[in-house]
Amino acid sequence: MVETEHDVALEDTDRLHGRSALVNNVKAATALAGAVRSTLGPRGLDKMLVEDGGPATVTNDGVTVLEAAKVEHPTARLLISTSSAQDRAARDGTTTTVILTSELLQNALELVRSGVHPSIIMNGYQIALAESLDEMGRISRTPRDDSELRAVVATSISGKVDSAVGRHLTEIAIEAAEELDGEDGGHDLERMRVKRLLIKDGGTLDSEVVRGLVLPKSRMDVASPADSDGGRIAIIDGGMESPELELDASIEVTSTEALRGFHERSRERMREQVDLLASLEIDLLVVRDGIAEDAATMLTDAGITCYRRYDREDLELLSRITGAAMVRDARRVRTEDVGTYTSRSERSYSGVKHTRIDGPEGGAVTVLIRGSSPSVREEVKRAFDDALGVAHRLSRDSRILPGGGGTQTHLARHLRAYAPSQSGREQLAIEAFAAALEIVPRALAENSGLDPIDEILELSAAQAAASEGGAWIGMDVVSGDKVRMDEAGVFDPLFVAHHALAGATEAANSVLRIDDVLWAKQDAQTPDWQSEMED
Ligand code: ADP
Ligand code: MG
Repeated sequence: MVETEHDVALEDTDRLHGRSALVNNVKAATALAGAVRSTLGPRGLDKMLVEDGGPATVTNDGVTVLEAAKVEHPTARLLISTSSAQDRAARDGTTTTVILTSELLQNALELVRSGVHPSIIMNGYQIALAESLDEMGRISRTPRDDSELRAVVATSISGKVDSAVGRHLTEIAIEAAEELDGEDGGHDLERMRVKRLLIKDGGTLDSEVVRGLVLPKSRMDVASPADSDGGRIAIIDGGMESPELELDASIEVTSTEALRGFHERSRERMREQVDLLASLEIDLLVVRDGIAEDAATMLTDAGITCYRRYDREDLELLSRITGAAMVRDARRVRTEDVGTYTSRSERSYSGVKHTRIDGPEGGAVTVLIRGSSPSVREEVKRAFDDALGVAHRLSRDSRILPGGGGTQTHLARHLRAYAPSQSGREQLAIEAFAAALEIVPRALAENSGLDPIDEILELSAAQAAASEGGAWIGMDVVSGDKVRMDEAGVFDPLFVAHHALAGATEAANSVLRIDDVLWAKQDAQTPDWQSEMED
């Protein structure tokens, strides 16, 4: 055989082509989905993640499991990033996204085996997606009252925490989300603006929302007042250290005289800074880096209480609630950079001094998350994050759908009726898409110890038999009864279901588009970064 240029170029590469590339990719997706499928739904089981030497994490959260997985396969990585994207955009539906993707791929592989070209499948999947999204919009509605709204948020965390904790987290998530009402911002708005603080003692049910910013910090000089009814605040995004700390090696001390002169000059400079702040009538100063001890004393004498070592993101929140600008250099604070706060107080939580600062601008809250052990607190925090994310997004788009597999079962029935209106082989892909949707009721049934085939058939039949609102019938995972999900209070937000289905279809199609997988071989010439860095 004549060696072409291409073959030479690919000499050091393992190559999987066409069908075997697809088989290999689908295998990876199936394996990954298998790892999270058993967590789906309120009766899903938890996973324990153990890292070498690190503490174990117990979680029911799909994206947490996946992000901890150390997988190399590119298709598996693609699924993980699809799940992460779902987490960022919707905060919920991460497990659903992964199992839907894997199911779409398995059904596509079946079609490829029976001779349907991947491009036809991709096309059919796109048509089915568009039709599904339209249909979801048609069956969705807005919550009728506050208790329905609470039920939507509670559904999103059912299974992650027990129901009493779920109700409590739902309340505080809605309370915190209301603070952000009507504000613009990207996907991470609620994560940036709601400070979550893990507090060591107390039970989970003592978790609470506090207006303002609470941080585990205490004032630098105990001689300054612990509380205040408000005043003027400056924020320094830098430090107020003495110059010797900043440039320690660069001065050469030749005599005690010179040393004294140097100290005096540095004190003088410090004095100038403090005078400037005092002239701006500031009584509260918060600094990102350090503050020199003698500066703290001068500040106290000038009636200014100071705090140091605040993280940048905390300073940003503080800046937002007080209107104070973050100034890099304490010598350059101007009147317009000064903000106002309405109260400051210190108190201990589990033996650690915390300071709370409130501002007139509002718009920032702190959630104190309590729990008996670090792993409980972490899992409660994750559940709270989901609840908050869902509550916040619902305030922008409150349309809801039936949960408990109702939506997916309805869509599957709808697509099967719709498929014949489409041309030739695309019909097969639309039917494959419909069958893939049924993974949701199937996994919910499996995880509840019910028979998945019976459940899907019964659910489908119950929906078809209903004279109206059949789509709203879903599966009660405790009894296995087919009941109206609005009566059972099991709702999924439209934006979660919408994003999950669109994300899964996009991920599946991007795997189907792959015709060739080239694996670079690791050889002796791979640079050894470790030894190069030591050199
Ligand atoms: P995801 O990571 O995809 O959000 P979850 O484990 O949160 O996975 O499970 C979500 C699924 O569980 C949704 O399909 C939702 O409708 C369903 N579900 C939640 N609570 C109930 C319930 N009480 N009865 C039936 N299904 C439920
Ligand atoms: Mg969920």
